[in-house]
Amino acid sequence: MDTHLEKILQDFAKGSGRLTILTGAGISAESNIPTFRGPEGYWTIGSNEYQPQEMATYRMFKQKPEEVWKWYLYRIGVCKKALPNPGHHALVYMETLFKDRFTLITQNVDNLHLRAGNSLEKTFQIHGNVFFMRCADECKRSVFPIPKHLTGREKNETLTETDRQLLICPHCDSRTRPHVLWFDEMYNEHYYRYHSALKVAEETELLLVVGTSGATSLPNQVVWEVKHRNGIIIDINIEENPFSNIAINSRQGFFIKQPSGKALPDIFQKFKAVME
Ligand SMILES: [Zn+2]
Repeated sequence: MDTHLEKILQDFAKGSGRLTILTGAGISAESNIPTFRGPEGYWTIGSNEYQPQEMATYRMFKQKPEEVWKWYLYRIGVCKKALPNPGHHALVYMETLFKDRFTLITQNVDNLHLRAGNSLEKTFQIHGNVFFMRCADECKRSVFPIPKHLTGREKNETLTETDRQLLICPHCDSRTRPHVLWFDEMYNEHYYRYHSALKVAEETELLLVVGTSGATSLPNQVVWEVKHRNGIIIDINIEENPFSNIAINSRQGFFIKQPSGKALPDIFQKFKAVME
C-alpha cells in the first residue's frame, strides 16, 4: 500500500471522525452475483423480452405482478446461493472496530452485508432487500421476510396456489410487493433511510466508495457532500469510473484499482494496527 495512503488511514483511525462505506454491485460481483444488467437479467414474458430496467418498475408490477414476483423469486435464489466474500467480512470487522463511528450505505439488495454480519442498525439498504416484502397497498408500513418456501426458485418457475397465498399481505389480503426501490420510484426515509444517509454524509470524515460507478442519485449526493466538506474519499474499483475521478481530484483522495476483496481487508489491517 502507498505509504501516504497508509498514513492517512492511520491518522484517521486514531482520531474520532466518522467512517462511511458506500457499496455497489462490484462487491457483490466478487461473490458471483450478476448485476442483472447483463444477459442474466433478461426476462421473457410470452414472446417479449424485458430488460431489468423494465422489470424493476412499479409500472410493470401494476401490469404483471406475478411475472415481477417470479423474476424476484428467481433473483432471490441467485442471491441465496452466493456467499459473502473477504470484502464483506472486512466491513464487519470495521464495524466492530469503529462501533458508532461506522456506517454502511449499500445499493445492493442481495442481503450479503447482513449475512456477513453487519448490523441492520448500521447498514442503510438504500435500495431495499430482495429477501423482504411489504404490502403493495401500504395498509401498514411494515416490512416482513419473504417466506422460506418461496426463496430459491429456478428461472421461470410457475407460481402455485400456495405460493400465491404466501404473497398476500397478512394484514389486509392485498398483494405484497418486493421491498426494493424500483426505477420509477423515489427514495424515502421510512423504507430506504434517505435522510439518514444524507445526514451521515454530512458528518463523514472518511468515505470508502466500493464497487459503484455512481449511476444513481443518492450515492452521487453522498459522494459530493463528502467532497464539498473536504472529507477523504477513497474509491475502490476494478475500473476507473466517475467516483475515482472525484476521489483523485479531492483534497485527500485515492483510487485503489483493485477488487474490494483485496483492498478492504488491507485497509482493515491498517486501521487495526493503530486501534487495538
Ligand atoms: Zn396490507
